[in-house]
Amino acid sequence: MEATQEIIDRIAYLQAELTKYGMAYYVKDQPLVDDATYDALYRELEELEASYPQYQTEDSPTARVGGIILPGFEKAIHEIPLYSLSDVFTKEELFAFDQRVQKTLGYEPKYVCELKIDGLSISLTYEAGRLVRAATRGDGTVGENITENIKTVQSVPLRLPQEIDLEVRGECYMPKASFLALNQKREEEGLETFANPRNAAAGSLRQLDSKITASRNLSTFLYTLADFGPLQVTTQEEALVHLGELGFRINPEHHVCHSIEEVWSFIEDFHDKRSELPYEIDGIVVKVNEFAAQNSLGFTVKAPRWATAYKFPPEEAVTTIEDIDWTI
Ligand code: NAD
Repeated sequence: MEATQEIIDRIAYLQAELTKYGMAYYVKDQPLVDDATYDALYRELEELEASYPQYQTEDSPTARVGGIILPGFEKAIHEIPLYSLSDVFTKEELFAFDQRVQKTLGYEPKYVCELKIDGLSISLTYEAGRLVRAATRGDGTVGENITENIKTVQSVPLRLPQEIDLEVRGECYMPKASFLALNQKREEEGLETFANPRNAAAGSLRQLDSKITASRNLSTFLYTLADFGPLQVTTQEEALVHLGELGFRINPEHHVCHSIEEVWSFIEDFHDKRSELPYEIDGIVVKVNEFAAQNSLGFTVKAPRWATAYKFPPEEAVTTIEDIDWTI
């Protein structure tokens, strides 16, 4: 399709703005805009690039999984890439996701709903049951080696009860209480405060002095493995139970749903409970439970087709929640 000059300019503007916001968010841990603003602009760019693919550049923000490698840390190559997640913002988009899944599978699968922890993706490698490497996601293929820093996080087991080789993945986050205390202390010391717990967690993990990381009270929730080979599990639900048995911290609020309507009820429920949780969540991750079904669905370049993230509206907007029609 031919683009007008106005559209060409808009695409270039969005690519430049989102690149600038991405640098501030991923590299400096100091976001310039809130996530909802970023997500809305990102989606606009995605839609324009889909209609006018001739203007999608190789370095467009839509072409990367996110995360930029900082100088100062050793690189960590992910032999099995860490993917991002597709996202949905409305009930209609969630149901359309379910329709696509059903079309490929030919039936309605069970879904596991998990809280979308607003932290930083990490990957922990164990050899013969010992933690040998911890890495950030980075761009999905190359992350940063943060082993010494992760070792200071109390919930991360340094040794497993079995001498197995595993690569476990999940989220490292800063509890709300730690975030408030940290910002208060920084304010008293005349230092710049962190914009949100996610940025505080990212800043804390990227310290060259691991003593600083240790003082930041980070925690973890693990939810997957790079390769399930070493474990006898066939569903995401079993994987979570098994990871818990191995000593990893698992989020207790996951739930297996038998229909997409049940998924929606879970989302509504946690939308209301969100502010009571001791950690921040920015949505609900919905995953097809059976690994066999996941394999039939496969991946796009950036994300699995068997999962999506329902993103909550920004918390500042929660006071105007009456405006949202939950019956759609
Ligand atoms: P994402 O955060 O939207 O979703 C993918 C991530 O969810 C995974 O990588 C994983 O780390 C995390 N996750 C948490 N709980 C999970 C669970 N239970 N199961 C699976 N994954 C789980 O995508 P992204 O690519 O990490 O980051 C993009 C997002 O970052 C954007 O949507 C935007 O909100 C934010 N961002 C904001 C700015 C800004 O300026 N404010 C800039 C860049 C990016």
